[in-house]
Amino acid sequence: MMAECNDVNCFVHGTIRTRGSMLEGKVVSDKARHTVIVERDLVRMVPKYERYARSSSRIPAHNPDCIAAKVGDVVQIAECRKISKTKAWTVVKILAKGEEAGIAGKHEERKAVKSEKAEKAEKNEKQG
Ligand SMILES: [Zn+2]
Repeated sequence: MMAECNDVNCFVHGTIRTRGSMLEGKVVSDKARHTVIVERDLVRMVPKYERYARSSSRIPAHNPDCIAAKVGDVVQIAECRKISKTKAWTVVKILAKGEEAGIAGKHEERKAVKSEKAEKAEKNEKQG
């Protein structure tokens, strides 16, 4: 957060100005320098089948040094001018760090549920 920012494409310290829409999503890739891939889960009603269809959209967004979003973070992104061939969005805020919103926590919960079931099964075996 306190990192020095010499990024010309930073919306605070550089020349980029945000305008247009704001969206929220989760960072699924931070491999590229100064770029993150933000994924949004979308649920859409399909009238013909009266069911919901799930889909997701992936948006490449600029990740300035002073924000430094990581995989698993939930971020707010804002539309801006084209920064590169594919980038026209920039991360403006980290809403939740990866540890809080991460996948690791969910796995632990699942394990806990499994162990409870296993205990019950053991008890049943002893009784029977
Ligand atoms: Zn900056």
